[in-house]
Amino acid sequence: MEKTLVLIKPDGVFRHLIGKIITRFEDSGLKILGLKMVWIDEKFAKKHYREDVAERHGEKVRNELINYIREGPVIAMVLEGADAIKVTRKIVGSTYPNESPAGTIRGDFSHISKEYGNRKEIMIKNLIHASGNKEDADIEIPLWFDKKELHAHKTIRDFFM
Ligand code: GDP
Ligand code: MG
Repeated sequence: MEKTLVLIKPDGVFRHLIGKIITRFEDSGLKILGLKMVWIDEKFAKKHYREDVAERHGEKVRNELINYIREGPVIAMVLEGADAIKVTRKIVGSTYPNESPAGTIRGDFSHISKEYGNRKEIMIKNLIHASGNKEDADIEIPLWFDKKELHAHKTIRDFFM
C-alpha cells in the first residue's frame, strides 16, 4: 500500500479546520498511520521545502513558504491506501484555491487566486501540503515521522474486506 505525507498548514489550524479536514481523508477510506501537532523551526522548514520549490516558483516564494509554514503549529499525518499520493492530491485540490474545484479541501475552504496574492503581496494560503509524487513522499515521510510513530493498525474495514 502507498503512503503519503499531509500537513494541515498553520492557516488550517488557526481557522479551526483540523477536524473537518481530517474527516475528509478518513471518509475516503485512507488510513491514518501517524498524526501529530508540531511547530517547526527554520532549519526543519528548509528540509521540507527543498531547492526544487525555488526551481519551480523562485527563491522568493520558497522563503515565503518557509515563513508561512512556521507561523504556527501544523498537523502532520501519514496516510496509507491504494494510490494514496494521487488520491490525496485529488481530495486536496489544486494549488491555487480559486482554481480548486468545489468538493476539494482547497476549493471548499479557501478561494484566493495566485494573481490576487501576488498583487497584494500576501501569501496564497491553501491550507494543506500533500506530497506531490512518490519521490517527495519517500523524502517527506521519514523527515516528519520516525518509524515507531507509524502504526500499521487495523481499521474497521479490515474486518470486512
Ligand atoms: P502544491 O504541491 O499544490 O502545494 O504546490 P507546489 O508544490 O507547486 O507549491 C508549494 C506551495 O507554494 C503551494 O502550496 C503554495 O502555498 C505556494 N505557492 C505556489 N505558487 C505560489 C505563488 O505564485 N506565490 C506564492 N506566494 N506562493 C505560492
Ligand atoms: Mg508540492
